Amino acid sequence: MKVGIVEKPGVLKVVDRAEPEIKNAADVKIKVKRVGICGSDIHIFHGKNPFATYPRIWGHEFVGEVSAVGGGVQNVNVGDHVVVEPITFCGKCYACRQGRPNICENVNVYGVHIDGGCAEFVVLPSEKVHKLPVELPWDEAVLIEPFTIGAQACYRGNVQKGDYVLVMGAGTIGLTAAAMAKLYGGIVIVADLVDEKLEYAKGRGTDYIINSGRENMIERAREITGGMGPNVVIDAVCIKKTFEDAVMVTSAAGRIVELSFNEVPSEIAPVNIIKKELTICGSRLQTHRFPVVIDFINQHKLPLSGFVSKTFPINEMEQAFDYVDKNNAKVRKVVITI
Ligand code: MN
Repeated sequence: MKVGIVEKPGVLKVVDRAEPEIKNAADVKIKVKRVGICGSDIHIFHGKNPFATYPRIWGHEFVGEVSAVGGGVQNVNVGDHVVVEPITFCGKCYACRQGRPNICENVNVYGVHIDGGCAEFVVLPSEKVHKLPVELPWDEAVLIEPFTIGAQACYRGNVQKGDYVLVMGAGTIGLTAAAMAKLYGGIVIVADLVDEKLEYAKGRGTDYIINSGRENMIERAREITGGMGPNVVIDAVCIKKTFEDAVMVTSAAGRIVELSFNEVPSEIAPVNIIKKELTICGSRLQTHRFPVVIDFINQHKLPLSGFVSKTFPINEMEQAFDYVDKNNAKVRKVVITI
């Protein structure tokens, strides 16, 4: 069967591998239909993901049809359409015992630490798959995982009905966070430097847009919120300045959610955290968010129109990565069809 691998940093290849077979009673075999290219896949390709090892079958955003099930599988049958929840965890460490397996000390992500979904077939434990309605188009189903990341950010930021939520960054993750914040009842403001991205965001879960290149983002966000400042700030840009701005702009009792692995320190005076009693938290991967997003997608509530920027067949995987690299400013999601 064909698989897409990052052989080593900078080298992508479609190669032939033996088809995986069911080994355990709890395994399912999936005929993969779509794989989304994530920013983190681009980082793996460029050798900039600190967790990736090589060679690696990339892909953690994947959906497909169940083609075989082990004797003990109960949650799905052959022919079912499924999305994969792409993490494994130990279940024993502190984080797992807290119900937060996404930050398990031994967490493995398919396509990063272990082989992922860019393959004609994958075999994995049935507990990793969620059943989807058969009428849901594959090009929409493949967006579920990115939306779980946005859902996690809202969950970490405890977005409540009526909260003002400022999302910094209108890239893929910023857009999913904005859309989920709206579904949770937030009044959503999105800030970015690129008009094209802001225009896309507008109406798709976003109430207000700010071009932070032309406008003073902090002043404008205060104005929109009647001087209070946003109650939740989701930082999907994650540079030195956006973290610092988040602390300054957030309302009293506000929450700040950081989303990236940036290693550049920000300068933040503790007084600015104390005086408003801010909660600052990280959001990594997702935990228990698949059922939430699948529920919204079943109700046709996710703003998916135009979200997939382009699709490529697996044979043109290199061109697909190149396309994402060269069109970084306008690409939302590029998808590989298998
Ligand atoms: Mn992703």
